[in-house]
Amino acid sequence: MNRALANASLRERVSIIAGGGLAAAEHVPKSLLCGADAVTMERALKVALGCHACADCNKDRCTVDQNGITSDWSKWRAVNLVGAWRDQLLEIMGAMGVREARRLRGESGRAIFYEETEKDAFADIKGGA
Ligand SMILES: [Zn+2]
Repeated sequence: MNRALANASLRERVSIIAGGGLAAAEHVPKSLLCGADAVTMERALKVALGCHACADCNKDRCTVDQNGITSDWSKWRAVNLVGAWRDQLLEIMGAMGVREARRLRGESGRAIFYEETEKDAFADIKGGA
């Protein structure tokens, strides 16, 4: 998507927001490397509030004790989660020598993709490719 938009000279006119399944801090830089401008954290935030990542999570089935949550408690759970993910993003960016998160956008050459690694690892083995 990122490359197609860039090739069509539309990349600066479109913002890509990735989300839906981000469950770990490492998914943030990976999403940025793949071209996202921003990420959403809805599932991770639900888990931070006590959801067990229910397959069909809804108001009646979720494990979150909705009556036992105060707005102050949930606010600080979100602050802690976002802060922890931010710290991990800064650590990853530091290891890459990148100072701004937006500099990661679309830098897919910095990413290691499982399929490519697997192909490289097993290419020399008979039947591995
Ligand atoms: Zn749930």
